[in-house]
Order: sequence, then structure tokens, then C-alpha cells
Amino acid sequence: MGGREADVAALAAGVAAGDRRALARAITLVESGRADHRAQALDLLAALRAPGQPAAGRQALRLGLSGTPGVGKSTFIESFGLMLTGQGKRVAVLAVDPSSARSGGSILGDKTRMEQLSRDPRAFIRPSPSQAQMGGVARRSREAVALCEAAGFDLVLIETVGVGQSETVVAEICDLFLLLLAPAGGDELQGVKRGIMEMADLILVNKADGDLKPAALRTVADYAGALRLLRRRPQDPEGFPKAMPVSALAVEGLEAAWAEIQALAAWRREHGHWQARRAAQARQAFEEEVRQGLLSVLTREPARGRLAALGAEVEAGQMTPEAAAAAMLRALG
Ligand code: GDP
Repeated sequence: MGGREADVAALAAGVAAGDRRALARAITLVESGRADHRAQALDLLAALRAPGQPAAGRQALRLGLSGTPGVGKSTFIESFGLMLTGQGKRVAVLAVDPSSARSGGSILGDKTRMEQLSRDPRAFIRPSPSQAQMGGVARRSREAVALCEAAGFDLVLIETVGVGQSETVVAEICDLFLLLLAPAGGDELQGVKRGIMEMADLILVNKADGDLKPAALRTVADYAGALRLLRRRPQDPEGFPKAMPVSALAVEGLEAAWAEIQALAAWRREHGHWQARRAAQARQAFEEEVRQGLLSVLTREPARGRLAALGAEVEAGQMTPEAAAAAMLRALG
């Protein structure tokens, strides 16, 4: 066995054994933009999923979590995560953060976030990397989730800030989607985009404690009303999507939220929606990989040179854009 194969095999064994350091290294590998790392990452994912391997059939509950900054995401993940690790579950937390490329920071980068959970041996917390493009974010997140799943985590929480595009990425990789909101001041629906609301399976109105409690309960009622107006989705039992109050800080309502999550997950499994969603997601991932692969072909020779040459002809008026594009596609064909 060569060095590279041996490395990948050792890493796969470490991940499958649930070793958090191996998992962290494996995620670093799938995040890498280097071509040789990419080849290793594909070998690793294939090795973990190979039939007969201990990690092959493992499935975690993949839970998406979205909310604007300040709504209490990290406080919620800390309390919710500790509740679950306290029940003996293993919890992984990943971030999807498209803004990190711009700001250079990351939503999970702050060391003070989730302090207790990060020290819990049953938890694994992965900050978002500082460099990422949207296409890359989707792939990387999907692969990081697959690695956590192979490492035997019961729950993978995928956190994102509410900016629209990242929710779509998270929705494409999660089984269930939670939207965290703060109590509204008045009776307005906080400008939550309809699309995001339609993605949500459970709306949790956080900070339902102390002086904020009445406002939180009003907000829950407002959203419950708004949710009733949405068309019932085939993947939902009666009563879903649902809105409920929680307090991440006072650790209240979290068990009730977990009970709803489990009930919804069980219903979807029973009725085949769970499997159908995963199958559709896998197909979507395949098509997206092909699209990305084709795009990257255009950035390499000989396609790159051909694109430049045809572009120059179009610019000079020697070819129409349509004819040049057809010639380009024939050459790729
Ligand atoms: P994030 O930006 O969404 O991750 O929000 P944080 O978890 O950092 O919380 C933002 C602020 O809201 C902090 O000052 C928290 O202490 C506070 N906070 C979070 N959850 C609750 C809660 O359940 N009740 C109250 N009263 N404050 C909370």
C-alpha cells in the first residue's frame, strides 16, 4: 500500500472509531482546495461508505438551525447540545457561513461561544473556515456532515446566519430545519422572508423568559397564525410546521422542542418522506458536482484558451455570441 492510501485508510479508521481529532483532520481535508487533497478526500469518503465498513450504514439526525445574529443561536446550541449529551447522545455542530469569506471571521470562531459544550467529550464543534465561495460551501458542508455521520454522531447541528442563500444550502443537507427567532417588539412578523419560513419545520421563539416572556408568547401566536396560512406540505403531519417558545438561557422549552423534533422525524421515517428527501438531496448533490466540475473545466487548458480565443472573436464582431458558444460547447462535448 502506498503512503497516500495508507494515510487515507488510517484516517478512515480514526473517523469510523469516532476519534474527534481524526474527524477534524478529515474535515480539513475535504475543505482543502488542493487537487491532491481533493483526490484523498474522495478516497476517504468512498472508504467510509464502502459496504461492510462499520461507518457505512450510520445515519445521524441532521438538524439545520438558522437565525439572525443575536437571536441566541450559540446559547441555544450550548443548552440544547448539553441536554442531549446529558442523555448520552453524541452531538456535532457545524457552521455554514457564507459571510466568513468577506469578514475573515467565522460564526463559530469565537472561543467564548458554546464554552461548556466544546469541552464535552460527547460533542464536536467545528467553526466555519475563513475561505469559502458559495458553491464550495455547499460541497464542503455536505461532506463535513457525511464525515460526522460516519464518526457515529447521533445529531449533526448545522448552524447558519439568516441571510437567505445559506439557508438554501443548509436545507439541502438537513433532515429538519429549525428557525430561531427573538420576541418581536410589536406585532410585526420580523421581516422573515416567506421562503425561509416555508423551509422551517419548527419555529422556536427564543428568550421566552423574564420581561420578554409575554412578547415571546405573542410572537409564537403570531407565527402560529402565519404558519396556518401556509399550504400544508405533504411531508408534514397535522400541526406542522409549528411555532413554540423556548429559553436557551433559562433552559426552558428545550425538552418540548426536542420531543417535537423527534415526533416529526419519526413520522417522516414512517411515511417514507425521510428517505425520499435524502434520495433527492443525493441526486441534487450529484448534479451540483457535475455542474461545478464542468465550470472548473473552463478554468483549465485547453478550454480556458479556447474560451479566450472565441471571446476575442465575439468582441471583434467576427462571430456571434451564439455561434461562438455553440462552437465552445462542441469542443467540450
Ligand atoms: P447568536 O448571535 O445568535 O449566536 O446569539 P447569542 O447566543 O450569542 O446570544 C445573543 C445574546 O442574547 C446574548 O447576550 C445572550 O445571552 C442572549 N440570549 C440568548 N438566549 C437567550 C434567552 O433564552 N433569554 C435571554 N433573556 N437572553 C438570551
